[in-house]
Amino acid sequence: MEAFSAHIHPDDRDQVQQEIQKSLDPKHNGQYELSYRIIRFDNQETRWIKVKGSVYFDRHQPVRFIGTVLDLTEAAMAEEKSAKLAAIITSSDDAIISKTLESVITSWNDSAERIFGYSAAEMIGETIYRLIPHDRRQEEPEIIRRLKNGERVENFETKRLTKDGRLIDVSVTVSPLKDRRGNITGLSKIARDISASRLLLKELEASETRFRFMLNAIPQQVWTAGPDGALDYVNQVVCDDFGYSTEEIVGHGWQAFIHPDDLPACLEKWLKALVAGTTYEVEFRLKFHDGSYRWHLARAIPYSEGSIIKLWLGTNTNIDLQKQNEQRKDEFLSIASHELKTPLTSIKAYNQILERIDDPEKRKPFIKKSADHIVRLERLIGDLLDVTKINAGKMNYDMAPLSFRALLSDSIDSIQHSITSHEIVLESAPDIQYNGDHIRLEQVIHNFLSNAVKYSPGAKKVLVNSKIEHGNIIVSVQDFGIGIARENLDRLFERYYRVDNTAMRFEGLGLGLFISAEILRKHGGSFWIESEQGKGSTFYFRLPLEGLNKPTVARTDTFYCDQHLTINFNQTKKRMEVDWTGFQDLESVKKGCLVMWELLKQNQCDRIVNDNTHVMGNWSEATDWVGNTWFPMMEQAGLKYFAHVFSPSTFSQLSAIKSIDIMAGIVTTQYFTDIKLAQAWADQFPR
Ligand code: ADP
Repeated sequence: MEAFSAHIHPDDRDQVQQEIQKSLDPKHNGQYELSYRIIRFDNQETRWIKVKGSVYFDRHQPVRFIGTVLDLTEAAMAEEKSAKLAAIITSSDDAIISKTLESVITSWNDSAERIFGYSAAEMIGETIYRLIPHDRRQEEPEIIRRLKNGERVENFETKRLTKDGRLIDVSVTVSPLKDRRGNITGLSKIARDISASRLLLKELEASETRFRFMLNAIPQQVWTAGPDGALDYVNQVVCDDFGYSTEEIVGHGWQAFIHPDDLPACLEKWLKALVAGTTYEVEFRLKFHDGSYRWHLARAIPYSEGSIIKLWLGTNTNIDLQKQNEQRKDEFLSIASHELKTPLTSIKAYNQILERIDDPEKRKPFIKKSADHIVRLERLIGDLLDVTKINAGKMNYDMAPLSFRALLSDSIDSIQHSITSHEIVLESAPDIQYNGDHIRLEQVIHNFLSNAVKYSPGAKKVLVNSKIEHGNIIVSVQDFGIGIARENLDRLFERYYRVDNTAMRFEGLGLGLFISAEILRKHGGSFWIESEQGKGSTFYFRLPLEGLNKPTVARTDTFYCDQHLTINFNQTKKRMEVDWTGFQDLESVKKGCLVMWELLKQNQCDRIVNDNTHVMGNWSEATDWVGNTWFPMMEQAGLKYFAHVFSPSTFSQLSAIKSIDIMAGIVTTQYFTDIKLAQAWADQFPR
């Protein structure tokens, strides 16, 4: 006994000693049974043993111990393991369920109750199908089939039903339960409720989509860079501007797109900002997909968490127009000073001559010349003041009845009076009363006439015509001068705009047409130009006559007609035929276009032959509305093919091209000069 005790684990030694003492007491019949740990001699391993036996006495003296020693180590470990497992199963956040191959539930932990709402008592003995939605019942046999094939079923995402009828998102991992021979006897299933994380993910995705939409909706280029300055995101605006994909741009970095002259200053500022962690701001030119460079203002701010910069958020704002305007203003100031100085210098010179001449007769021509220059000076200053008034919306109009023929001939006379180089011929003028501002309209006619004279230095005549057409007074001033190239036509009425090659040769501020356009607009009129470079130009303007525009409207389900247009839905060809007539303005274009939209929808038509052959003048004020609003409406209403037959008026052609250019949708558009070709084109598409 003594030798044996030497191997007893020190923690169990006392208890063993006590038990031995007890068993040595003859009162206890020498029965002995005890479990404890021993330490083996050979490898110092600790093992659990159970010692059971009897002590034999001879005259109350213990003489022999006969018993058995059982090694309990494996059993003890298994017990410990199962105790641990039970603890894990109870405390797990996941539902842990075991079931037979017939899907009958054999165990159900606390979390299963928390997640699905059923207690263990309710579920043990029930089948798992209680939790499976009807349309997912095939999943169970499929899982068993996969496990039998030796496949793993891990984090399988599906939906399950709770006791209160909710469908929840779960992630399921299933393991087979096997007997000693390795046969699958049941399944252990761990189900994790992922509804909350799914919801969070969905919310995150939605917020990211919203965020990206926002970033793409703003007109600026938006980008982010890592703390080291490496570009890692650009919005769609950048891709559209540069003509590359996000990946390509992020791969290239900005440097590839910055104008080489602006690059050194920009890099220096960027590096400084990166090092100091301060706002970055720089102006540079960026190269667009068409090869042109546009001025941008770049700004970036660092986003930090604590003192650590996590990312840089940057924007590049297109400031090209402002830059151009600045440049044009500078140019304008230099031209204006020059223009004002020229007559002043002449007046000064004439005054000096006059000082030296006493004879009143000899003084006369110099006084006349000096007076002419004063008039010019007055006009220039007047133009400058008018532009200021137009910009401030303070140009006043004094509308009163006037004789249009008198207005025209008086204006011609006053110009003719001061020039000898050209003869201004009034070929026709209707005798009609018009309600308008006499002085302002005279200003328009003066401007057209003096331009016609100025820009036809080699010619002798300027022809003026006037007539009533479609309820409008139309005036044309024709010269045989330098003409204007088509590409410059639609910019002529802009402020300060002067055709490049004329600006150097002819004096002027580029304000006259801008002011005239504003005056005509205020009278409800419009203007346009027909011109051929080198041959001459005809400037037109139109003033609507009140009372003559009484509309007569006819309308059925397939037909519409007023003084501006005729629409016919051709039922055999299933196409809409639209014929615009006469002078159009924003109001007439809008009205007509909306009727087209209604008839297109009503007749479920997908093609239009839009004939502008009979359009006159210019409808430029409607181009933005047609491109941005009307075309998308038509596209939504089912329009697929749009054949446009050009008007002979260059200005109307320019308007049509501009509108159709704005609209970059799915409508297929084609221009024609011949109605028959347009119809054939529209008819070729399957219906
Ligand atoms: P300005 O004549 O003072 O430059 P306008 O506003 O009257 O200003 O005209 C703007 C520009 O239009 C002119 O600079 C010129 O290039 C062009 N222009 C105007 N009228 C004619 C014309 N009859 N023939 C050719 N070009 C013209």
